[in-house]
Amino acid sequence: MKTYDLIVIGGGPGGYVAAIKAAQLNAKVALIEKEKVGGICLNHGCIPTKTLLKSTKVYKTLLSAKDYGVLVDGDITFDWTAMVKRKDTVVRRLTAGVGSLLKKNGVDVYDGEGKPVNATKVEVNGETLEAKYLMIATGARPIIPPIPGLKEAMEKEIVITSRELLQIKEAPKSLVVIGGGVIGIEFATMFKQLGSEVIVIEKMPGILPMIDDDVRDAYVKILKKDGVEVLTEAEVVSFEDNKVIYKHNGKDELIEAEKVLLSIGMRPNVEGFESLGIQIERQGIVTNEYLQTTVPNIYAIGDVNGKYMLAHVASAEGIIAAEHMFSERKPKMRYDRVPSAIYGSPEIASIGITEQEAKEKKINYKASTFPLAGNGRALSENEKDGFVKLIVEEGSKEVLGAHILAYNASELIAEIGVTMELEGTAYELGSTIHAHPTLSEIIMEAAHGAIDKPIHF
Ligand code: FAD
Repeated sequence: MKTYDLIVIGGGPGGYVAAIKAAQLNAKVALIEKEKVGGICLNHGCIPTKTLLKSTKVYKTLLSAKDYGVLVDGDITFDWTAMVKRKDTVVRRLTAGVGSLLKKNGVDVYDGEGKPVNATKVEVNGETLEAKYLMIATGARPIIPPIPGLKEAMEKEIVITSRELLQIKEAPKSLVVIGGGVIGIEFATMFKQLGSEVIVIEKMPGILPMIDDDVRDAYVKILKKDGVEVLTEAEVVSFEDNKVIYKHNGKDELIEAEKVLLSIGMRPNVEGFESLGIQIERQGIVTNEYLQTTVPNIYAIGDVNGKYMLAHVASAEGIIAAEHMFSERKPKMRYDRVPSAIYGSPEIASIGITEQEAKEKKINYKASTFPLAGNGRALSENEKDGFVKLIVEEGSKEVLGAHILAYNASELIAEIGVTMELEGTAYELGSTIHAHPTLSEIIMEAAHGAIDKPIHF
């Protein structure tokens, strides 16, 4: 029987990062993956969506080329097949890169399904491997609710999940998105930019429930201006082929669409792990701040623990868990400092508490906003929609959170992350000299506003 220090089951951004980190800490590591290394993120999630979003953005920009003084002679069209091909090339390159990183770090990769035998043994392809530590990093899959007609509509490939939507042969003329969460909104943006009719159906009173209220309200206005219809408090009750029947304001309504994206959430892949005696709840496998399950030599990271279903959280958890096992350094996972981003047009990025949370927790806070309309770079880029909202503790001015609606918001949020990691204040952010003209100046301006007043507004 082959023995290891650590067996990782699942090679997504949680599992492969943990495997590499553990190997770098001199552990002997086996990684078991039943599909492709890179997991959902690289193969069917983060990277494919962002690659396609770039293509659709180029198309949208070309359609408004005249606004920049650029004249395009002839029709501007797009080739969906070529966009998908480009996406597949990017994905192949990245997954190949992960494969070679695992190899270079001496991780033994097993292609197959990992089946746990007990707390130290896992079977893969009929072979049993043994290790001191096990790590479950099996991710999650889309929730398929028991709605009448759904099974039939999915068999006919009318209702599909994000995975199939990334591989469709043609961009649909009309798309109904069920679920106004991050995934649904990114696809709504993508296909609207290509000219599809897009309707989002959300059961809750608003889309993107975790976002700061002001950011969400501004974003919904932009979505509507771009022609995306957003129906809230609307619950899908049945499907009949291309027809989606939903309840809205007490009445049954019907919409027809070429394709329907089902994106109402993810369910952790915990099947097979119940026999290990670890505590599993509806949300996922229960873990502590070192990612240990209730059986201390078994760890669970990433989507399978259901805490934050984000790739960077999975990777961060993987590193924390590997360090807990094999290093003297034993940092704890800090969920209060997790950034999140939504790659719509413009983007949304957040970290820390929202203004609503500050109110609920009765924190003595100050919120300072600064609009993109007051930023030279944003105007020169023709990207004036959006703002930053910085939340600081009123007395000390310690930065508690930030919420950004802006093109490239996903890049800007890192500056706030570093500030929060250093327990920094608006004084440090405001006195940091930011290059001009850059979008990041909006953060410096909002910091000035948190102390006194911004200069340019
Ligand atoms: P996964 O990436 O799901 O990897 C788990 C792996 O385990 C899979 O490869 C699976 O094949 C394997 N596996 C499962 N069971 C077994 C078994 N028994 N034996 C062997 N192998 C097994 N997150 C972001 O942070 N940013 C984004 O922009 C973003 N965009 C997304 C877009 C879409 C459309 C989707 C669906 C998700 C997106 N996410 C994004 C979420 C992100 O993909 C996940 O949070 C992330 O992939 C979780 O990583 P993981 O390692 O926990 O699991």
